[in-house]
Amino acid sequence: MSATDLPERGWTTRHTQRDLTGKPALFLDRDGTVIENVPYLADPAEVSLILGARETIAAFRDNGYAVIIVTNQSGFARGLVSPDQYRAVESAVIEGLGSNLVDATYACPFHPNHPWRKPEPGMLLAAARDHGLILAESIMTGDTLADMIAGAEARVGALFHVRTGHGAEERAAVEAWAKGRLTVRFADALLNLFPFANPVTRDIADREHCRLKLYNPR
Ligand SMILES: [Mg+2]
Repeated sequence: MSATDLPERGWTTRHTQRDLTGKPALFLDRDGTVIENVPYLADPAEVSLILGARETIAAFRDNGYAVIIVTNQSGFARGLVSPDQYRAVESAVIEGLGSNLVDATYACPFHPNHPWRKPEPGMLLAAARDHGLILAESIMTGDTLADMIAGAEARVGALFHVRTGHGAEERAAVEAWAKGRLTVRFADALLNLFPFANPVTRDIADREHCRLKLYNPR
């Protein structure tokens, strides 16, 4: 992150030196998707990884995906989170997940309107441009409708809505929005994406998903 990134861009941090050119990305919302949701989180001691997040992210990384966190952080614009506090929390998230797992973090400190603030797709588009990512083969995962819209606007290949964080309360709105969109899948948590990291298990998971949808319509 650097001050020169403001105000046109939000905050970006590169965590690995991997060459990401030509890779699909696993785009991850942070709060409520990778870590337990704490409104305007400013204390690194309150960072708590969601069960299975580390293992799932590692599976995607090992199968050739770039791993990019895209997070709205309006706490800065609201005067609730300082840049130093944000950085401390970001470090705790990255250290909690383990080294060499997340390639980069994109954060939007602005509020209310900015091209980087989800549901706008700016963070995903910037990451794709910065690193040469293949958006059409990428995945966006998050707990809110704004996450899904940002992914759709960036034209990623698949969207996963999780029920962690705000996911349970947002599920109905996401389902209504998702009607007719073949790219939206519903999961309980990030852990449910695990089989989708691998092409072989992805086919099985896709078939299973269809069967479950058929026999257990929501
Ligand atoms: Mg979230």
